[in-house]
Amino acid sequence: MQTENSLIGGRYRLGKKIGQGGFARVFLATDSVLERQVAVKILNSDLTEEKDFLERFGKEARAIATLEHPNILGIYDYGQLSDTAFIVMPYVEGGSLHDKLRRDGLFSPPQAGYFLAQAAAALDYAHRRNLVHRDVKPQNMLLRSEDDRLLLTDFGISKILSSASAQSRTGIMGTLSYMSPEQLSGNVGRGTDVYALGCVLFQMLTGKLPYGGPTEQVIMGHMVSPIPSIVERSQFQLPPSIQGIIEKALAKKIEDRYQSAGEMSQAFQAILNGSTAIKPETLQPPHTWNANLAQPPTQPYSP
Ligand code: ADP
Ligand code: MG
Repeated sequence: MQTENSLIGGRYRLGKKIGQGGFARVFLATDSVLERQVAVKILNSDLTEEKDFLERFGKEARAIATLEHPNILGIYDYGQLSDTAFIVMPYVEGGSLHDKLRRDGLFSPPQAGYFLAQAAAALDYAHRRNLVHRDVKPQNMLLRSEDDRLLLTDFGISKILSSASAQSRTGIMGTLSYMSPEQLSGNVGRGTDVYALGCVLFQMLTGKLPYGGPTEQVIMGHMVSPIPSIVERSQFQLPPSIQGIIEKALAKKIEDRYQSAGEMSQAFQAILNGSTAIKPETLQPPHTWNANLAQPPTQPYSP
């Protein structure tokens, strides 16, 4: 078991553990050759009991390494240990969007739009290269503290973890909160990422996931429940025009959704700019939006 102070790959000195997900541990580390801080992600070794696992993981790491985009976290290095594999990547000191959501509760629409646009740009870029992320969630969106730039991480990793046995061992199904009906049924496409991004938008705007509660209830939510109203969840703070975006992003059928993440982000931006064909009385201009909706609003929006 690699722990603090271990030297990995003859080069990376592990420092403190900074994160733990369903299938890996993440450490702050020092690259002893380039003398810089990095993050090292080490897969849980029980995963690698799976046949061909390391081979598949290596293949995926090579695919991810070809991605070069300002909103995608790159990979510095990849290597295998006796019983597992690790990925070396830039250390992003600002924490994740999940951490920020926990701190702030929820975001104002312009702030949500800022993060949405960046995540959408990253996804559109990857989709053009036929790579589906499969695990879009705030935990996989890291924020560079310098400028709050969003960096999407963990591309394609869930693909190799999607075998039934890996799932039962890792609890990877724990990310159900963002899973589209087709992904729950074992299929994915670009629209799967659009759906998950819609769930993230919902969460950014209301502070809550669209479908919560026990596992069964979450699954039923995605599969059959009506799409919840952000207008009601926000106590009529958010206008129905934004609900229109949620409805299209969270459509149960992939063909009814936005055809790209960018299309969804543009639709949201158009509402922020007040330039969509919505009735003006349904929407206040963006500058009247309360920057901190976590506080009780003084001026309610006119629904
Ligand atoms: P999950 O994405 O499910 O949380 P991960 O194993 O991918 O699980 O990551 C665990 C946590 O480690 C993340 O939520 C994030 O807070 C942190 N983390 C991952 N990669 C980095 C990185 N490159 N820089 C800083 N923190 C990171
Ligand atoms: Mg992750």
